[in-house]
Amino acid sequence: MKRSVLVLAIIASEMCAGLVRGQKPPLLAEKDVAALANELSGETAKRNLEVIATFHRQRGSRGFHSAAELVAERARAYGLSDVQILEFPADGKIFYGTQRSRPGWDVEFAELWELQRIGLVSKNRILADGGQRVRLCDYTSEPVVLAEDSESADVTAELVDVGEGTKESDYAGKDVKGKIVLVSAQPGAVQDLAVGKFEAAGMVSYAQNQKTAWWGEDESLIRWGHLETFSEHKTFGFMVSLKTGRGLQERLTRGEKITLHAVVKAGQHAGNYEVVTATIPGADPKLKEEEIVFSCHLDHQRPGANDNTSGCVTILEVARTLQKLIAEGKLARPARTIRFIWPPEIEGTITLLNAKPELTKRIKAAIHMDMVGGGPETKAVFHVTRGPMSLPSFVHDVAWASAEFVNEESYRFAATGKAEYPFVAPEGGKEPLRAEYSAYTMGSDHDVYQDSSFGIPAIYLNDWPDRYIHTNFDTAANIDPTKLKRAAFIGAASGYFLAGLNQKNGAKIVLSSEFRAARLLLEVGRRSHELDRPEQTILNQVFNQYAKDAEGSVNGFLAGGIAKSAGAQQNTNTQGRVGGPIYARASQPRGPLAVFGYDYFADHAKAAGVAEPKLLSYEGLWGSGEEYAYEVLNFADGKRNAQEIRDAVSAEYGPVPLDLVLEYLKALEKIGLVTEVK
Ligand SMILES: [Zn+2]
Repeated sequence: MKRSVLVLAIIASEMCAGLVRGQKPPLLAEKDVAALANELSGETAKRNLEVIATFHRQRGSRGFHSAAELVAERARAYGLSDVQILEFPADGKIFYGTQRSRPGWDVEFAELWELQRIGLVSKNRILADGGQRVRLCDYTSEPVVLAEDSESADVTAELVDVGEGTKESDYAGKDVKGKIVLVSAQPGAVQDLAVGKFEAAGMVSYAQNQKTAWWGEDESLIRWGHLETFSEHKTFGFMVSLKTGRGLQERLTRGEKITLHAVVKAGQHAGNYEVVTATIPGADPKLKEEEIVFSCHLDHQRPGANDNTSGCVTILEVARTLQKLIAEGKLARPARTIRFIWPPEIEGTITLLNAKPELTKRIKAAIHMDMVGGGPETKAVFHVTRGPMSLPSFVHDVAWASAEFVNEESYRFAATGKAEYPFVAPEGGKEPLRAEYSAYTMGSDHDVYQDSSFGIPAIYLNDWPDRYIHTNFDTAANIDPTKLKRAAFIGAASGYFLAGLNQKNGAKIVLSSEFRAARLLLEVGRRSHELDRPEQTILNQVFNQYAKDAEGSVNGFLAGGIAKSAGAQQNTNTQGRVGGPIYARASQPRGPLAVFGYDYFADHAKAAGVAEPKLLSYEGLWGSGEEYAYEVLNFADGKRNAQEIRDAVSAEYGPVPLDLVLEYLKALEKIGLVTEVK
């Protein structure tokens, strides 16, 4: 049964496209595809992953520096050009666009002990006559146990259970002053209340993973925790597993007294954002000034194997492979320069793009990888994610053409044992890839590139869900070398094609753009079911315009612009409704407003006395507040009126009242991010 459904789906997509595809690889010459398929190694990528995953890679820390040194050393050994570790001061005060730099943070020591038979305890010391200590957390062996941005402390105190810990009512009738609170929320969500208001000394958190079907199921996971970088209520937070948290909670409920001894030597300090970068220079005297960027993020907790050592080592493997094949003459050197970037997530990218505007101007498109190695154990689905609707671009079709090729070939191999390009790593799995073409989702550095202040289209390759994300069990053991090889191929083929794109081979995109029309039609079809008539009409108009602009973006790219449509993208049919004001985005600051550890909008709105706009907590059919906000600002291009912006985000995330969009635009105006165009 599955088989016949699949055949139907293939026939349907071929009919939509009006042509029948052979098994020939798309876009690139077959000899180039064969060269890539042979050289790209999932094992080489995984060997690098196993090393990087040993570092606890917090922004601005010694662990991050070690990872950066390792990547730079490998890039040099592979023969890449311009290998550098760029340093940008981060002291908590300097702004890079919308990112307030977060100071570095390092840890010397952190342990949490339970002191049993507490009658024997006095003043942070254990008496010699039989008192016992049981160690609950040890930073040295498992660094994930200390919440990021914890500060030094040496505290012996009672533990008090306050449930979630985020509401005043959680503390009703409880005296937590000078004590350690046990909470189920992230330390950063608790600290201002627990420490700021109720004067707790610190916290122990059993916060769980991001919500998926497997949420809370595995009691042994310890989640990566965070305090608020810029909170004035400095404190410490230890992270424990659900099992440990529940155990403590049960004992407290029974009326037992639990005394803990927390020792933390850690703290923020002025430091640097470090960004590793390397290039493969282009061959064309003029076009080599244009760059295609491979991106990832090098930070996160140890081991952080899928998130995101996998993306880091996969672009490193792309770098090694392209460099080697070009040096050996097996691939022609492409016209444009290819650059590889390993930053701390989001904040490093915003910093780089703001601090190096001359570099930013050269970037025509980016290929961003965040979680690309999850094997079956992680439950991951691999996504090739198109850009936001505010930035229509053909580059997503380039990525999808290669992904679809890998889907077909890997399925053929899995189903029959025979395929010309199975993309199977010797130590990896043989499952078919089954990559999904997905609507835009936020949450990584691709948001920064595609923010309208930069306007750089970014292919986004990512796994979701992953039941081990941000926990101590996101380990190398779960990473599939076959998956790394396939992600590397999709990235390498897309990047190499874009770097060499010219008027002649540009014609090949027509093929992928016909598939685009078919894909968008499916998206519109799926969404239409949930809408009434007027909203269906709007949906159709917005998607039609998006498809046209994506088509037109090739010309902009070839003319030396970025890979988006050069023309106005105005939604021409407003059906005679009131249009509302037109706003244009200010040229500064550049970057999305809600970034890493800092919210530019919230901070500035508070200072200007602007109440939180209702749009920020709005839940739409296919998106929520943060996503609407991101796109409303992106659509404020000095051409669209408020009604057109409302229509555009309604097509993208679900119908939203015009009032909410207007209120948000006015809030943006008050803090100087947009100005009304008269
Ligand atoms: Zn990530």
